[in-house]
Amino acid sequence: MGSDTERGRRKSGRPRIGRRGVLIGGAAAVLGGGVLAQDQLSRLWWRVPGMTKPRKEGELDHLGAEWTAASRANWRLADRPEDYRIDRVIIHVVQGSYPTALKVFKNPGHGAATHYVVRKDGHVAQMIRELDVGFHAGNRSFNERSIGIEHEGFVDRPQDFTDAMYLGSAKLTAGICERYDLPVDREHIIGHVEVPGTDHTDPGPHWDWDRYLELVKRARTAAKAKAKPTGNSV
Ligand SMILES: [Zn+2]
Repeated sequence: MGSDTERGRRKSGRPRIGRRGVLIGGAAAVLGGGVLAQDQLSRLWWRVPGMTKPRKEGELDHLGAEWTAASRANWRLADRPEDYRIDRVIIHVVQGSYPTALKVFKNPGHGAATHYVVRKDGHVAQMIRELDVGFHAGNRSFNERSIGIEHEGFVDRPQDFTDAMYLGSAKLTAGICERYDLPVDREHIIGHVEVPGTDHTDPGPHWDWDRYLELVKRARTAAKAKAKPTGNSV
């Protein structure tokens, strides 16, 4: 396609616009041929030539996480924060165990996955790159703007929310807030229950928001005191 464009430019002198028009038309057709909002067109425009950031299997955003990929059916390629601004973290509770979360997110039939899953001992799995849009909020624009974190356990079992899990999750969220310059507050760190239109209740009444935000603030301060992590790969 690149060589076609080069050839076209030499012939007509103004092929870029035409070429892009054709490509956008093609992409719109793939999406069902409906009328697309201008901002969606501009995003397609950005995305049509291909992702600018190469990604490799095993690449991590959170240092110390274990990479274990979600099924490709449960997320969508993107180029955040260039195409969609990341402005919040969404907190979930699995309603099951850590292995269950990994298993369902690897199942292409599940239709959903978060970027991260935190275990009761604080261990973190990364399953989707932060560049990409995970299907976890049940709301398209909230998926596009957020990073989702699952926590092992059940909403009605406060004993599931261990000290180690709060701490591991807080370090993760602190890193996200640092990477995308988000304030540590309840506007930018929300529960799934707060997503417009959701019928989910997680993380539920036993999730200690005051404690969590305090831990995130502390972790962010501690991380700033050290060298700024690059956090792109291991
Ligand atoms: Zn949820």
